[in-house]
Amino acid sequence: MTPFSSSSASAPLGPNAVIGIVGGGQLGRMSAMAAAKLGFRTHILTKDPNSPAAQVSHGVTLGAYDDLKALDAFARGVDVVTFEFENISADAMDCLSQYCPVRPSGHILRISQDRLAEKTFFTENGIPLAPWHAVTDRASLHAAAEALGLPFILKTTRNGYDGKGQSRIHHPADLETAFNTLAPHPLVAEGMVDFACELSVMVVRGIDGTVRCFDPGMNRHRNGILDLTLAPAPVEPAISAQAQALAVSIAEKLDLVGILGVEMFLDHTGALLVNEIAPRPHNSGHWTMDACPVDQFDMHIRAVTGMPLPPAIRHSDAVMKNLIGPDDMALWPKIIGTPGLLPHLYGKEEARPGRKMGHVNCIFPFGSLPGELGIQDALGPLATSLAAEETQETQAEPISS
Ligand code: AMP
Repeated sequence: MTPFSSSSASAPLGPNAVIGIVGGGQLGRMSAMAAAKLGFRTHILTKDPNSPAAQVSHGVTLGAYDDLKALDAFARGVDVVTFEFENISADAMDCLSQYCPVRPSGHILRISQDRLAEKTFFTENGIPLAPWHAVTDRASLHAAAEALGLPFILKTTRNGYDGKGQSRIHHPADLETAFNTLAPHPLVAEGMVDFACELSVMVVRGIDGTVRCFDPGMNRHRNGILDLTLAPAPVEPAISAQAQALAVSIAEKLDLVGILGVEMFLDHTGALLVNEIAPRPHNSGHWTMDACPVDQFDMHIRAVTGMPLPPAIRHSDAVMKNLIGPDDMALWPKIIGTPGLLPHLYGKEEARPGRKMGHVNCIFPFGSLPGELGIQDALGPLATSLAAEETQETQAEPISS
């Protein structure tokens, strides 16, 4: 490894520089494809030589994310390091940062990968969020239940994704089971938000402090997994502006360099409550790939390589639908035969239930996002699965502040 000189850290990387991406999943794959457009090479740290990102990258180091030998080999060949998922060791990121810039930095990873650290950060920085309590033992669990009232949600502090690692407590009898099942402790107890809808905002910050923010999207989940994002979120402009202001404020307080997804609830009073952050490209930002001239992956690559950030312009309205598991993949021949559906596949060989295999974007002229029936119509063969989910008609209607 060549020790990295921080004096060169602010110069943009030039063509053919190598971006190291920790993680081999679809977010790494789409980041690598965006990097290639800008003349960069990518090098992936992954355990799987056939991972989605490895398939489209210049180099691969095979190894675990906490394997110091693998990290050393990886660091030798790259000019900057970024990551495509959060459940990696922040200590490993700190180790890599001795040799090249790590963007976003390890301190942001430490906050985002631990719900207690994240909620503490929000609370200390005046970011609105649902009421919460740290649960370290049975006494604090019962105190949290008393303070929050039933129902509430108990979550693990780490490794929660796609609705995993959480339990809804409806009755006092659920407390003991949830406490025993969710591990490791401590846990976070969170007030149940009776939300009107879920929004997310992708925000990007460059090394010169320039901040760019995409329009908020509205997310709908099925079986705990993101199913659809509507962009722009069909909410009042004042709410969109508040959501963006919150995302920008978080990015600035974190001293972010790179991209960050901010997930929020909009409650029935028009208040926004931040749920969680992810310092990487995000599934709920995939709509930008076909509705924006510069998408979330382009922005991410620009930010981590020190390039200037163009405005986050949207030229179209969009619906993004995830292709999940064998049921959605069985529709593939119909999807590719449907004009207007813009598919993106991740190169995964096995379509296991619940596995994200790809996504489809459907774009509409700027300002003409249709209502529920129009969306179903546009999604063609995927509309069946849309109709089968529990859709809430009111979610697609404007919600006033
Ligand atoms: P999370 O793992 O925190 O992203 O939560 C997954 C999903 O669970 C969210 O997208 C919401 O649909 C739901 N959820 C999480 N926290 C809450 C909450 N405090 N109140 C209501 N629903 C929640």
